[in-house]
Amino acid sequence: MSYDENNIFAKILRDEVPCKKIYEDDFVLSFHDINPQKKIHALVIPKGKYVDLDDFSLNASTDEIVGLLKGINTVAKKLGISIETGKGYRALTNISEHGGQEVPHLHFHLFGGERVGKMVE
Ligand code: AMP
Repeated sequence: MSYDENNIFAKILRDEVPCKKIYEDDFVLSFHDINPQKKIHALVIPKGKYVDLDDFSLNASTDEIVGLLKGINTVAKKLGISIETGKGYRALTNISEHGGQEVPHLHFHLFGGERVGKMVE
């Protein structure tokens, strides 16, 4: 699947659509999900144009891969849900059709602030 420049997260990255920003650095942008499923529901996205985790794993540079993983930890710390600052959380990414992915720009959901519950329905 080729990258769709008009997906909503691409627009957020270009500042064409607003977001409730949590954190930003050279590699990631993080913001609150518009339709939170838990007390805390954040999204962490790479700044590079990657459709999903498979695309990212195959094509991202080592710096981008490290940057995304470190970014997830930084955001979790900031939100008070990491093991250093809180009681833990769930990081989840949906991939393509069977994964239920709606927005075709790689994103990790961070759920926390309460027990997240059953892993899969
Ligand atoms: P997924 O099904 O994994 O692709 O998740 C897409 C997520 O993006 C959903 O949880 C949506 O609520 C969220 N979302 C869609 N549009 C926006 C937006 N403009 N700002 C923040 N979150 C959004």
